[in-house]
Amino acid sequence: MKLHEYQAKDILGKSGIRIPNGQLITTAEQITKVTKIINGPPWVIKAQVHAGGRGKGGGVRVAHYPYEVVTAAEDILGKRLVTPQTGKNGVAVNQVLIEEGVEIDREYYLSMIVDRSTAKPTMIFSPAGGMEIEEVAQESPELILKQHVDPEAGWMPYQGRNLVYKLDPPLSPAPARQLMAVMANIYRIFVTLDCSLVEINPLAITKEGKVMALDAKITIDDNALFRQKELLQLDDPKEKDPLESMAEKYRLNYIRLDGNIGAMVNGAGLAMATMDVIKLAGAEPANFLDVGGGASEEMITKGVEIILKDRRVKAILINIFGGILRCDVLARGVVAAAKKTNIRLPLIVRLEGTNVKEGRKILRDSELKFLVAKDLAEAAELVAKQISRKG
Ligand code: ADP
Ligand code: MG
Repeated sequence: MKLHEYQAKDILGKSGIRIPNGQLITTAEQITKVTKIINGPPWVIKAQVHAGGRGKGGGVRVAHYPYEVVTAAEDILGKRLVTPQTGKNGVAVNQVLIEEGVEIDREYYLSMIVDRSTAKPTMIFSPAGGMEIEEVAQESPELILKQHVDPEAGWMPYQGRNLVYKLDPPLSPAPARQLMAVMANIYRIFVTLDCSLVEINPLAITKEGKVMALDAKITIDDNALFRQKELLQLDDPKEKDPLESMAEKYRLNYIRLDGNIGAMVNGAGLAMATMDVIKLAGAEPANFLDVGGGASEEMITKGVEIILKDRRVKAILINIFGGILRCDVLARGVVAAAKKTNIRLPLIVRLEGTNVKEGRKILRDSELKFLVAKDLAEAAELVAKQISRKG
């Protein structure tokens, strides 16, 4: 679950990290009042969307007069914002954060993630923070510093010194101490809130020598939400793909991709293999949909319905290895969905495993035109045929 910048900053602020004064607005009427309560000029007007790269897409504006705050906020609020991370259609902006503009001396990058290769929480720090951090990581990887954390021991003060004392030019003692305190803080937040990401970019040193978080991103691990119930109220369903939200409701693992072949499988490994098969056939998957091990007939029906709601889908490949999920249950779910949605797209089914004979029989007897493949290779061939038929 991703949090908005203003929500993440609230969490950072409460843990003692300095953040700019700010006010969230959701309607145009609220804009004028804000310049009276937030220090300025300058003010910074920031679109609250879950995508990054807002600065590059015009979603972060600086205003020097109250009327400029109004024009900038009106220009962003209620519009769609396109950034390097949103795709060309952009995302709707329903909320805007207006905050005091801070005079920046330096911008650092600081984050906590789980490093998969070492399976350890890892602090990432860079003296070259700000909007170009992706380019820095590509072109000057030596400027990206890391500290792996032993979860038993937690974040150790020497690790902060390892990062901060490498800075060139060096920081004077007060901001250096503040910076190390921020590091210890974000580690604590990361662990106690079950985060998969805590990121501050930029973490600024202001002209007055104060360390301040000017941007913040926090992602909570969905698998831990059952024990982070008080964070659930921070969820913003408007930011989610509607099909992904619908899938979540039925406990289906669905992720939308860019292609036009819908895929439904059981198990994430099989999903990966199926995407490979689709690509080998010269096509692109439209989604990743894993119905899981113990899917019910209803979940299968919903899965097909969700795939069909994506208008770009030109054919569907269902690839199921029946284990706990029996092939006959799957087949009944698919037939029900096909009837309910009056499906007109080619539907390729490859079944194997528990009750496969019954499963195939149900599909055959349904009088619907399923293309039943006997193995993966044939399924790929059928996908390829569908693509070439479409030209
Ligand atoms: P994004 O990462 O989505 O582009 P940021 O919040 O990082 O958005 O803002 C982009 C840039 O705008 C920052 O790198 C920083 O230089 C500047 N900025 C953001 N907030 C403030 C602020 N309150 N005061 C001064 N500058 C700011
Ligand atoms: Mg940023």
